[in-house]
Amino acid sequence: MTDPTDSPRSNFIRQIIEDDLAAGRHQRIATRFPPEPNGYLHIGHAKSIVLNFGLALDYPGTCNLRFDDTNPNKEDVEFVDAIQADVRWLGFDWADRLYFASDYFEQLYGFAIELIGKGLAYVCDLSAEEVRAYRGTLTEPGRESPYRNRSVEENLDLFARMRAGEFPDGARSLRARIDMASPNINLRDPVLYRIRHGVIHHQTGTAWCLYPTYDYTHPLSDALECITHSICTLEFEDHRPFYDWCVANVSVPCKPRQIEFSRLNLEYTVMSKRLLTQLVAEGHVTGWDDPRMPTIAGLRRRGYTPAAIRAFCERIGVTKSDNMVEMAMLESAIREDLDATAPRRMAVLRPLKVVIENIPAGQVEQLPAGNHPKDTALGTRTLPFDREIYIDRNDFSEQPPKGFKRLMPGTEVRLRNAYVIRCDQVIKDAEGTVVELRATADLDTLGRNPEGRKVGGVIHWVSAAHGLRAELRLYDRLFRVPVPGAGGAGFLDDINHDSLVVLTDSVVEPALAGAAPGERFQFEREGYFVTDPDSTAQRPVFNLTVGLKDTWGKGQR
Ligand code: ATP
Ligand code: MG
Repeated sequence: MTDPTDSPRSNFIRQIIEDDLAAGRHQRIATRFPPEPNGYLHIGHAKSIVLNFGLALDYPGTCNLRFDDTNPNKEDVEFVDAIQADVRWLGFDWADRLYFASDYFEQLYGFAIELIGKGLAYVCDLSAEEVRAYRGTLTEPGRESPYRNRSVEENLDLFARMRAGEFPDGARSLRARIDMASPNINLRDPVLYRIRHGVIHHQTGTAWCLYPTYDYTHPLSDALECITHSICTLEFEDHRPFYDWCVANVSVPCKPRQIEFSRLNLEYTVMSKRLLTQLVAEGHVTGWDDPRMPTIAGLRRRGYTPAAIRAFCERIGVTKSDNMVEMAMLESAIREDLDATAPRRMAVLRPLKVVIENIPAGQVEQLPAGNHPKDTALGTRTLPFDREIYIDRNDFSEQPPKGFKRLMPGTEVRLRNAYVIRCDQVIKDAEGTVVELRATADLDTLGRNPEGRKVGGVIHWVSAAHGLRAELRLYDRLFRVPVPGAGGAGFLDDINHDSLVVLTDSVVEPALAGAAPGERFQFEREGYFVTDPDSTAQRPVFNLTVGLKDTWGKGQR
């Protein structure tokens, strides 16, 4: 046996699989990722995807993508399509193993008949409310339904008529016949089928008015696909006895094993699909792909890479203990990836014009600049340098705080990839707002320091004539507190209303012309940005992915 701590990727599930393979219980493993198509995938799903598809890649095996589509009311093809696109984007491939639980409706119906024949299921006429009242509590046993001892013939007849549509919604259900006194409430004759008229299922249309429950469908779908290890989150631990009961009592080809792990909880966001749906439906965000959403589509639009998300999922590990992961961990994963891979560019967020008086109007110099400080393979581009440039308002101060290393009246600063300039004059409007600076460049300082003088800082800049006006969307965390809603008031009360600042007047260097949606850059000294799908050649739009450093709560922006 290997020590589960000997590799960062090792975990208790890998240990179980290795033991199963070593003991010859399986030659190949089969896992599945089983989303319900009732919303977009989020970073919590990514944990499950990386785990299930990752296992199939690391051991000889396969991973199926299966839609658990037993609840047609909340499901939609929009979600079916988005989920497939997101799993693919994360870098995983289910090949020809795309399944729908609804593909098995006929087989599941057959299994129900088998259960009825064995005296293990019955048609119950209690209403949903009565079923609940009969169920008992954690401390009291339940009561048996008066319909529990119907004959097999009567059950078969009623069940067939349920399918034929003879009874209205809620009039009857099919229930497993297990044990109303079981300490596990999930074994107290759980419902297997409900009647639902008038719904249009996104896969089966109106073929059925009888829908199997999730708890009945899931184990049998796993068994039909010969899943060896059915991995799910901890809240299903109490459902495992019923999972095993289903698999044991019908004629399925395989007997999968359910293994539970703790779900990902992430600070400063919510992950429940109900709450995410509410954020979208009530317009608190612009959609499922709003860059502040924890959805895969949102993270993609925010500029996250599949590699960073996978690295994050590997890093948080797989255990059985509930925990809350710091947002900083996700942010550092993307920072690490982009630091290595993102070309550097210059963008002036809040432009202030500087006229360099010793450069004649009309003279343009093309200055070479490396795209990456360490990786020369990323190449170079040229920066047009001329008489009028923009610097950021925050890089100039008349009354600088102590330690200010940027531009001040009468002092020098280095323009990144260009010359040292000195501020000679400050021009203000009638209100006293600084509108322009006049400066002199020391033309002897390209790539070297001026002799005998100390230049404190380096700032970025963009040529006024050659730069492009751009819209910069500065995104921040969607919630102000680590656990939204924990304070007792609703989670909406904890929304961070400063989570989006739009700058419409920014100027970016000309090399960013034509940046394709999804292209990522480091805007020097500002952060990592990605081109938004809203971007056009006339009006580039960039989203802030993440700042260069973790400044949350430090009041730096
Ligand atoms: P919700 O309860 O919010 O509707 P769900 O977990 O039921 O979401 P599913 O579509 O059923 O959503 O999830 C598909 C798979 O992803 C399941 O196997 C589930 O266990 C897993 N999963 C969902 N959320 C998380 C999470 N936060 N961390 C890890 N795995 C998750
Ligand atoms: Mg679910």
